[in-house]
Amino acid sequence: MKKSLALLAAACLVFAQDTVDQSVNARIRQEAMEHSQVMHTVHMLTDRYGPRLTGSPNYEAAANWVVKQLTEWGFQNAHLEPWDFGHPGWMNEHAYGLMTAPVRDNLTFEVLAWTPSTKGVVRGNAVQVALPQSPTQDEMTAFLAENEAKVKGKIVLMGKATVVPVNFSPAAMRRDDKQIKEQFDPNNPNAGRGGFGPGRGATQAEPGKLTAAQVNTQVDAWLVANKALLRINDAAREHGQIRAFNNRTFDLAKAPPTVVLRNEDYGRIDRLLADGETVGLQFDIFNQAFPKGTTAYNVVGELPGSDKAGEVVMLGGHLDSWHSATGATDNAIGSSMMLEAARVIHALGLKPRRTIRVALWAGEEEGLLGSAAYVKQHFGTFENPKPEFAGLDCYFNIDSGTGRVRGASVFGPPEAAAILRAALAPFEDLGVAGAAPSTSRATGGTDSTNFNHSGLAGIGMQQDPIEYQSATWHTNLDTYERIVPEDAKKAVTAIAAAVWHVANRNEMLPRFSKEKMPPLPPPAAAPAVTTTTPTVAGR
Ligand SMILES: [Zn+2]
Repeated sequence: MKKSLALLAAACLVFAQDTVDQSVNARIRQEAMEHSQVMHTVHMLTDRYGPRLTGSPNYEAAANWVVKQLTEWGFQNAHLEPWDFGHPGWMNEHAYGLMTAPVRDNLTFEVLAWTPSTKGVVRGNAVQVALPQSPTQDEMTAFLAENEAKVKGKIVLMGKATVVPVNFSPAAMRRDDKQIKEQFDPNNPNAGRGGFGPGRGATQAEPGKLTAAQVNTQVDAWLVANKALLRINDAAREHGQIRAFNNRTFDLAKAPPTVVLRNEDYGRIDRLLADGETVGLQFDIFNQAFPKGTTAYNVVGELPGSDKAGEVVMLGGHLDSWHSATGATDNAIGSSMMLEAARVIHALGLKPRRTIRVALWAGEEEGLLGSAAYVKQHFGTFENPKPEFAGLDCYFNIDSGTGRVRGASVFGPPEAAAILRAALAPFEDLGVAGAAPSTSRATGGTDSTNFNHSGLAGIGMQQDPIEYQSATWHTNLDTYERIVPEDAKKAVTAIAAAVWHVANRNEMLPRFSKEKMPPLPPPAAAPAVTTTTPTVAGR
């Protein structure tokens, strides 16, 4: 009883000092909704500089543009922070492909990143290789030996075409209000569930069997050794969607030229081959590696604080993208929203007590690498902190597409979520339902989890899905056209107000005490492969 009274008193204290400034909120809302620059920013990051694959010249140009833009807006200390990516940059300069027999037609495909060029224009007949399912090493070795002659000098389709059935239940665009209120209800024992789940792609093989990634690596080596002209993967998605990821070795010598062909073209070739037809194909692909890209760059800029300038509120998202579109929803819009939220605060002439720092990351798509390097360099961990660890209030992250913000999850005790909930409450009319605490230090999904992992208050903004998982996420359709400007402006409003609020409180967000800090997950439970890094191209 005594304990619960003390808790109640503590909760009252938290709320007592958390009167949100309604007049500032009104000004933030007006600037964000009526004088928004978010669509100009996303236009530059996508149309002018996209795609922004980590280590590519495009990425570096985009990062430099952000530095220039922040400086023009009046931010301080805008700069690039280098970190070691460890792989060369890569870019596709041009690519075309066509079917030349039994009928001529263009093919629609994307090139797999970090694969080599074809040797000029290559022409060959299509062959299909159906790999054994979950083979042991002995079965795999025997299969590769038996089929060597089949792939020599050929254009090789990997497996039968996936049959993608017509979808009669369209994906949700908005999340249900009732469901979202439950998710962020502090009295709901299941509050906080949702958002990023466990990482996909961390496929476990049965004992004695090869993983999909191991099979893939051996197939690539085999195709290179037997001088196959080209490898073709099935995109296996509806409506011409293509997800092209990367050669996981990042070494151009270890993979054949590889494309991910839209399912419609892959299926057509598959059916013609099944008729016994000879299918002639022709490709010309020119890719370049950039050794200089082994150094990658995060982008940072600041609005200096006043009496608490040594304490920092961060906000950001990843600036890098995959390469088959301009990376609008993943994550030019997230980067643009965070830049815009900070711009709105500065444009109103507001002077925060704490320093507000915007940070955009590289290398997210290859495993949350840029933010991990930053957290390691600046903060260390709760168990092994660097001096800056004490002064980081929290980090707001956004990375789920164009949808409006519906809530936030914060790594920390319930009191931390209560503070954010109060800061977001005035924006219920924009669809924001609240905030929920999280205790997970597992990494995966997006950059805020690197802050959680270190024991710092990572804040993940939760959004409406719109067309994200169903159409744009990592696909060739991820372009400027898919952005919903009104949703982006609403998200900016709520984020700017929340950032402003925490940057001016008397105290930083409460953290877990030493006794309550969740332990680091065992290494096995923290997959090296994240939700945004696939094991096999074209999945
Ligand atoms: Zn992303």
